[in-house]
Amino acid sequence: MDQSFVRFSSRITHLQPEGAYAVLARAQELEAAGANIIHLEIGQPDFETFPHVSLAGVRAIVTGQTRYTPPAGQRELRAAIAAYARGQYGLDCDPAQVVVGPGAKPLLFFAMMALLEADDEVLYPDPGFPSYPAIIRAMGATPVPVPLEEERGFALDLEALHNRLSTRTRMIILNSPANPTGGVLPAQDLEKIAALARERDCWVLSDEIYSRLVFADTPPPSIAGRPGMAERTILVDGFSKTYAMTGWRLGFGIMPAHLAHRVTLLITHAIGCTAAFTQQAGLAALTGPQQEVTAIREQFRRRRDTLVAGLNAIPGIRCQVPDGAFYAFPNIRALGRTSAAIADILLEHAGVAVLPGTDFGACGEGYLRICFAHSPATLTEALRRMSRVLADLAPSVGSRAE
Ligand code: PLP
Repeated sequence: MDQSFVRFSSRITHLQPEGAYAVLARAQELEAAGANIIHLEIGQPDFETFPHVSLAGVRAIVTGQTRYTPPAGQRELRAAIAAYARGQYGLDCDPAQVVVGPGAKPLLFFAMMALLEADDEVLYPDPGFPSYPAIIRAMGATPVPVPLEEERGFALDLEALHNRLSTRTRMIILNSPANPTGGVLPAQDLEKIAALARERDCWVLSDEIYSRLVFADTPPPSIAGRPGMAERTILVDGFSKTYAMTGWRLGFGIMPAHLAHRVTLLITHAIGCTAAFTQQAGLAALTGPQQEVTAIREQFRRRRDTLVAGLNAIPGIRCQVPDGAFYAFPNIRALGRTSAAIADILLEHAGVAVLPGTDFGACGEGYLRICFAHSPATLTEALRRMSRVLADLAPSVGSRAE
C-alpha cells in the first residue's frame, strides 16, 4: 500500500518518541564514530536487579510458571501489594483494589481509558512525564498543563491549578517524587489538591513510581490516604525504579474496586496478563529483605550531592537540591541559549548526553534533566567536561542574569 495514503487515527497522529531515545540515538551515532559519551539521559538505576529477585524469576520459569495468569495479577502478588500499600502509603487496601500490569505505564494508560471522554480536560504537571499528555490526547481528551514553581522545590503552582480547573476537568495527574524535577509535593499542597478534587468531583491519578526514592527520613505522603480520596484516586507504582527491574515490566495500580474491575477488563482484552515469572520476581522483591533498597537510596543521595554541588559551581547554572527520584533539573537560563541548544553543545562538544527540559513540556525551557543514577566517578568526569565546555559560553553569563 502506498504509505502516503494511509490515514492514521487522529487519536495517535500527535504521538512522538520519548526525547531520551532521540538523544540516545544521536549519542550512539557519535559513539560509532569513535566518541566517548557519558550517558546521563536515560532514567533507570545503574545497578542490576537484586540476585534473589532474578533467581525467583528464573525459578518460576524452570518450575513451569510460563502460562497465563489471572488478568489482574496473581492472587499472592496482589495480596502482597495490598499489604505493602498499608505500610508505604498508609492505605486501607483490599487485594480487590489492586491491578497488576506490565509496568506502571499500562496502568496510567488503562486508568485514563476507563475514565476519560472526548470532552474531558485533564490537569497535569509541566514539566512532567511526557506520557501524561500523550495518553490524555490518545483518549481524545484535552491536556491542560499546570506549571511548577522552581523556588518551591518544583511543587505545582496551586494558583494556576485552581485557575485551570473547569467544569470539564475530569482528572488531575500528580507525580511525586517527580520526573524530571526530583520534586516532592509538600503535605499541605496535597491537602489543598485533595480538597479541590473533592469539591470539583475530579479523579486524581497519582503516579508514585519514585515513592521509595526519597531523601527525607519519612515516606512521602500519598494523596490517596487523605480523607475521602481513596474513592477518587488511582495510585500507580511499580518495580522498575525501586528494584532496578525496568526490563522485567511490572507495575500496579490501586484504585476503587469497581474501577479495578473495569481496568482489569481492559487488561484482559489488550494484554491478557503480565508474565507469571515476572510477577514471581516482583513478589520476591516486595516480600524479601529491603536493606538493599535503603543502601541504594543512600548511594543516590551521595551522588545527588556530588552532582548538585558540581553543577552549582559552574557559572550560569543554578540547581535546586532534588528531594526524590534520581534527577537533577538545573536552571541554565543564564547561559543565554535554549535548553535544546545547551543539550546539543554538551552532547557534541563535551560528550555528555543529557535531556533538554523542553522534552518534558514547554515549561521545561531553561532547564536540563540530568540523571544521577551513575557512579561518582562518572558524575565527576561529566561535571569536568561540562564545566570546560560551558566556560566558553561565559560571556553571556552575567550579561543575562535573571
Ligand atoms: N511514571 C514516571 C514518572 C516515570 O518516570 C516512568 C519511567 O520512566 C514511568 C511512570 C514508567 O514506569 P514503568 O517502567 O513501570 O512503566
